[in-house]
Amino acid sequence: MQKVLLIHPPVSKPCEPPAGIARLAGALRERGIPCTVLDANVEGLHFLLNAQLAGQKNEIRGHGPVSKASGIVSTAGADSGAVSPDMTGLVMAVRDRAGNTWSKRAVRNLPRHLQSLRSWPLYGHSDRYRRAVADINRVLAGASPQECVTVSLADYEDASLSPLRSQDLLQAAAQPESNPFYPYFRARLLPLLKEQDHEIVGISLNYLSQALCAFALIGFIRAILPRRRIILGGGLVTSWLRQPEWQRAIGGNMAPGTNDSGADALRKSGANSPFGGLVDDLVAGPGEEFLVSLASKDDVQDIYHRDSKDLSAQDSVLSPGALYNSLLPSSLPTNPARQEQGVVSETTVPCPDYRSFPWELYMSPGVIIPYSASTGCYWRRCRFCPETAEGNPYRPLPVGKVLADLARLQDESKPALIHFLDNAVSPVLLAALAEQRNRVPWYGFVRIAEAMADPAFCRRLRDAGCVMLKLGLESGDQGVLDTLEKGISLQTASLVIRNLKEAGIGTYVYLLFGTPAEDRAAAFRTREYVVANSPWIDFLNVAIFNMPVFAAAGLATRPFSAGDLSLYTDFEHPRGWNRREVRRFIAEEVRKHPAIAAILNRVPRIFTSNHAPLNLIGVRLR
Ligand code: SF4
Repeated sequence: MQKVLLIHPPVSKPCEPPAGIARLAGALRERGIPCTVLDANVEGLHFLLNAQLAGQKNEIRGHGPVSKASGIVSTAGADSGAVSPDMTGLVMAVRDRAGNTWSKRAVRNLPRHLQSLRSWPLYGHSDRYRRAVADINRVLAGASPQECVTVSLADYEDASLSPLRSQDLLQAAAQPESNPFYPYFRARLLPLLKEQDHEIVGISLNYLSQALCAFALIGFIRAILPRRRIILGGGLVTSWLRQPEWQRAIGGNMAPGTNDSGADALRKSGANSPFGGLVDDLVAGPGEEFLVSLASKDDVQDIYHRDSKDLSAQDSVLSPGALYNSLLPSSLPTNPARQEQGVVSETTVPCPDYRSFPWELYMSPGVIIPYSASTGCYWRRCRFCPETAEGNPYRPLPVGKVLADLARLQDESKPALIHFLDNAVSPVLLAALAEQRNRVPWYGFVRIAEAMADPAFCRRLRDAGCVMLKLGLESGDQGVLDTLEKGISLQTASLVIRNLKEAGIGTYVYLLFGTPAEDRAAAFRTREYVVANSPWIDFLNVAIFNMPVFAAAGLATRPFSAGDLSLYTDFEHPRGWNRREVRRFIAEEVRKHPAIAAILNRVPRIFTSNHAPLNLIGVRLR
């Protein structure tokens, strides 16, 4: 058995634990494989915030010792103001460049804001909420010693490096000390790896905002532990691997539409991957089986051998090292009959394990449990959707398994909110949830469907704890919806939105302007549709359409950037409704309309849909 360290790198919204490493931890622990989870995002953000506070008060709230059992930061002494000597020096090196009045006030109010984000009363008061989030973000913006880097609660920007270029990611790995999270990586990972001596390090990369930090982290680990096996997976990596260029480069091992049962990793050597010598395995799709197979081995001499330089604490030297790519066979038992129907076998998907996350750090008033009842999308017909374009298979868990998992998670974690991560909660699961009466609030994405045109069904959903539904309407023009094959009737959509709202369920409507099917007149009809339905819309997301690179067949395209990892491309709109016009239309005709502006003003800053259901609950509690 190999010990595994699972890391969720910065930056993503620090309001709930990361689902990816919780799922992997569930799979590993169920088979008795020792594993540690590290939410380096929430810890790293708090580290930067504390450093800013230390810059002002000359003291910092120290991280406690690593718990052997769980591998998490202990909260013991967290509020004592105690300073770990070696960390003090490191964090004090982080320069406070938030010199103006707002910044100083924001730093001064930081402890109060962090505390208030973790209690319910703030969520019923939009002005105070806005102020708290804006101030915390302001403090973070001043937390990077590098002028070109801006860290926020939801993003990471480096004016000199792009997460869309593999060369830039390699550079981030070669110079980890240039990353503002480097002091945290050193302070946290050195003792953790020394104490627990993990053989395998899995890194979960889901968002572009994580990419540069993930590679800085990988570079740091490679430098101190040249021979550790480093595995990179997650949503963003899956999207990279599904791109035609990568398919060609890796020799067609993972053709689009591959019915991956959870064990797709690159078989080819790193010579065919931009990250060869740095990352040992890139994993697409659910990585549980691959990781379990790998970690179950008693002897990994065939895949790597320990190096005497391990834990030498070098700072930035990146040794290219040898390549250790391999693909282990999918050897775990599966249920073929289930797989034929596209339903994942209950025996192969353990319940996610959220028991060892640093709950005291998440910026939410209670425990939020993210849960995926499926991967892919059961509809998978909408044109230009990445799910369709990438050919990701739809894999729902059996409803009984979902309900059993939820009951277990409720017992274990006493959540304040369940967050369904599915692209669209299936109608069968929605119907089953509507019959539940445990009343733990929950929310998620659903397709607009006939069932919700029945007010009684909406009331049952509400009684079953549904606090908010996210609805991917995309357009308020029937012609556009039909061309995009959304399978949505506007008449039904209006009924659904109204029924949900009247039942007491929040509505979060998603719009997409600039699709190839739209023109300016259709965009106006969307605006009018939203205005007409505005009394029943709580929140709106207004976005410009991005064309997935390999969904643009038949259209003239031009790259957005020189980035070889870009998943999207610019294109010549067939109706002349180009990006610049669309952007101007949104700014002037959509956002400024009073009815729409009022809805947009309700959207929680930065945390958006993650905090929207909390705001709805907060208002009710007021
Ligand atoms: S419902 Fe959503 S995820 Fe599914 S195909 Fe349509 S846009 Fe894609």
